[in-house]
Amino acid sequence: DPRIARISSSIRIIPDFPKPGIMFQDITTLLLDPKAFKDTIDLFVERYKDKKISVVAGIEARGFIFGPPIALAIGAKFVPMRKPRKLPGKVISEEYSLEYGTDKIEMHVGAVQEGERALVVDDLIATGGTLCAAIRLLERVGVTVVECACVIELEELKGREKLSDKPLFVLVSST
Ligand code: 5GP
Repeated sequence: DPRIARISSSIRIIPDFPKPGIMFQDITTLLLDPKAFKDTIDLFVERYKDKKISVVAGIEARGFIFGPPIALAIGAKFVPMRKPRKLPGKVISEEYSLEYGTDKIEMHVGAVQEGERALVVDDLIATGGTLCAAIRLLERVGVTVVECACVIELEELKGREKLSDKPLFVLVSST
């Protein structure tokens, strides 16, 4: 798709952020280019509009940028999946491991119903730990995760393999 090149070149790479040795993929420069931002949303909407998705689950923080416009365009609800202690209501949570230690994501109880069909959205997949935890959380409450969608995949980290049978759709692959 000719739109991919513009999206890809609008993403800025910042070396040594947030720590030495990390090449951070910065999507804020994509947001500064209205055409690239619109093309990003359009590509996802074209793919998901007829997939009977009732929930778009967006992962904090950058899943909150891409998830809502997709949800509005396909007529689905948006559910934020947040870092611990951010959501005010009763939550269910799922732990996942990081390089050092663990982290958690949380979702409000009652936000989704058993039998719903979800799309999980984030800006980027690295090791896949975050998306994996989001999938487990949704599946625990009886939701079917149809697919995960990210703008960027860091291919070398093989996060896709961690999602086992769950389809992953990405616009840009980075090696
Ligand atoms: P994973 O759990 O797949 O290892 O890490 C993915 C999570 O970390 C995503 O929520 C993503 O936003 C964040 N992340 C990790 N590295 C980068 C990066 O280089 N750029 C951006 N924008 N996010 C990153």
